[in-house]
Amino acid sequence: MIPFLDLKVVNAQYKKEMLEACEKVIESGWYIQGTECKEFEKEFASYCGTKYAVGVANGLDALILILRAYKEMGIINDGDEVIVPANTYIASILAISENNLVPILVEPDINTYLIDPNKIEEKITSKTKVIMPVHLYGQTCEMDEINKIAEKYNLKVIEDSAQAHGAYYKDKRAGNLGDASGFSFYPGKNLGALGDGGAVTTNDEALADTIKALSNYGSHKKYENLYKGYNSRLDEIQATFLRVKLKYLDDVIEKRKKVAKFYLENIKNDKIILPKVFTDSVWHLFVIRTKKRDKLQKYLLDNGIQTLIHYPIPPHKQEAYKEWNNLSFPITEKIHNEVLSLPISEVINIDEVKKVGEKINEY
Ligand SMILES: *Cc1c(COP(=O)(O)O)cnc(C)c1O
Repeated sequence: MIPFLDLKVVNAQYKKEMLEACEKVIESGWYIQGTECKEFEKEFASYCGTKYAVGVANGLDALILILRAYKEMGIINDGDEVIVPANTYIASILAISENNLVPILVEPDINTYLIDPNKIEEKITSKTKVIMPVHLYGQTCEMDEINKIAEKYNLKVIEDSAQAHGAYYKDKRAGNLGDASGFSFYPGKNLGALGDGGAVTTNDEALADTIKALSNYGSHKKYENLYKGYNSRLDEIQATFLRVKLKYLDDVIEKRKKVAKFYLENIKNDKIILPKVFTDSVWHLFVIRTKKRDKLQKYLLDNGIQTLIHYPIPPHKQEAYKEWNNLSFPITEKIHNEVLSLPISEVINIDEVKKVGEKINEY
């Protein structure tokens, strides 16, 4: 069986360094918000090209904390609207609802699966305060268009970069393309911890300080609480694993790009729509589209190839958002009905990639 993603093999590459790092943390006697977290924050900010990075507990919290910080700073208020792509992973939308803000769903572009910049302006009202582009599957959004609209209407731009560590838009990386960005280090992400982890990147010092306090009980100073905060911190043990893996992230991206290039050049089947990249992609996912998706998935499984669907149900059709179940987002629904993610990772070997290509061409 060709697995969709073999995390055991991914992490085995770093096992020796990780064990040494682990020992260092155990012996330090300091397990939360110590030197490993501080060093990782510095290194990750520098990698993204931002002035600040703040480690938090997971990617959802990173997005929640950015919005919450803007509320504490008086920039947004309960009931304000946040523009977000309708086909995103549910976390982007949960972060908005969690803050008593209103998610305004916008259809993606059918070619890129990213928020369609041409459909943003018609959704802007006097309540709109934020645009949240999601660099879905690893490709950066059309940030010039999005930032231009944000500037015109005085909106904040919060990137959801959970799938796009290291992806470029022109000469800047995801995380440095708006006012603030949320990252996830969930094990399956391109930069994955061995548990949960997340970070916020920004060039805004006040925002970084507010998030730092909010993530630590609202405390900027021991036993003094400025805000009714959370406990959402990045563990030392995860920070140390991430420091090991960050050094290799560019190699990981290069290897993923090679796999994607092979698929793009060798998959030739009229029934299959291949992904199109207009900016840059780090290929967190390689997503193809086909009319009878479930049939293709079963065919591939019968041929020893595991695939996944990202995602089978769009947010507006989820039980959690019952109030939206009757809304219609035809492009989003089409995407959810037709997408299939092929195996891609830094450890898949060329024979496996070839077999996937051959089997799809024979389909
Ligand atoms: C993974 C992911 C998140 C959430 O990250 P967690 O660390 O699992 O909380 C948010 N947005 C997108 C687009 C994601 O893929």
